[in-house]
Amino acid sequence: MGERPSSKDCAKACRVDPGAPFSLKDFDPDDRRFFEDEDDAKDSWRDDSEEIDKLQDKLFAEGKRALLIVLQGIDCAGKGGTIRRVFNATGPRGVRVAAFGKPTDRELSHDYLWRVHQVVPPRGFIGVFDRSHYEDVLIVKVRELAPADAVEKRYDQINAFEKHLVENDVAIVKFMLHMSKEEQARRLQDRLDTPKKRWKFNPSDLEERKLWDDYAAAYEEALQRCSTKHAPWHVVPSDNKERRSAIVARIVRGALEDMDPKYPDTGYKPEDYVIS
Ligand code: AMP
Ligand code: MG
Repeated sequence: MGERPSSKDCAKACRVDPGAPFSLKDFDPDDRRFFEDEDDAKDSWRDDSEEIDKLQDKLFAEGKRALLIVLQGIDCAGKGGTIRRVFNATGPRGVRVAAFGKPTDRELSHDYLWRVHQVVPPRGFIGVFDRSHYEDVLIVKVRELAPADAVEKRYDQINAFEKHLVENDVAIVKFMLHMSKEEQARRLQDRLDTPKKRWKFNPSDLEERKLWDDYAAAYEEALQRCSTKHAPWHVVPSDNKERRSAIVARIVRGALEDMDPKYPDTGYKPEDYVIS
């Protein structure tokens, strides 16, 4: 087994530097530099998921802060599989997953952040967003579902919203699962070929696939304008499921270690009590 890269090294290699020029082309979706061997990657996310559970227990006991993980990626990039692996050992009591689909009429009658703010994790919890408010500058921009001048204002609004959350004890880490167009073709075909995966296939995914370059441009703009010191974006090589999960798990574990949650001081002496 090779030596594992540190959380910090993974985060640094994947991070979109705030304010710096950024192109997705500089990120290889099949980057193997951290986990050459797939089995090492699997062992790594398994170990990290156990540690994430222990840290989550402390976060919950402490009850003062939350961690929000934002997952974005094109269809088949593996948002669901990442959640399943990275949190496979975490007690379900402490993790809340929110998936964002096409907004309902009621949601559309409010501002676009309304449905998002409601499901931000409360203190003590880890919240995972499977898609997020970023759809409002991704599909909404590409499909022109809102006026261009309204979308243009959203980058600053999102930064202000996230800053507000961070200042109110919600740490934020964002991941874009970066997959190649060839790998998406393989996974879409697999959904058609494998009976138990057929339910995942949606013909509309093929329509989105035709807009691949428009989505890439929308992602580049969103990640460049909304990667901030307080809520950084990470681009995760995602052509391989184990390596992808290993990198996300490393960075999530690192984020929790940086938060350094502590079991609270109970204020009593256990020896003062006798259980009869
Ligand atoms: P899935 O994640 O495969 O269940 O698909 C959810 C779909 O909802 C995706 O095509 C998203 O792009 C779409 N979606 C999510 N948020 C929005 C939004 N704010 N406006 C329009 N479509 C959205
Ligand atoms: Mg889908």
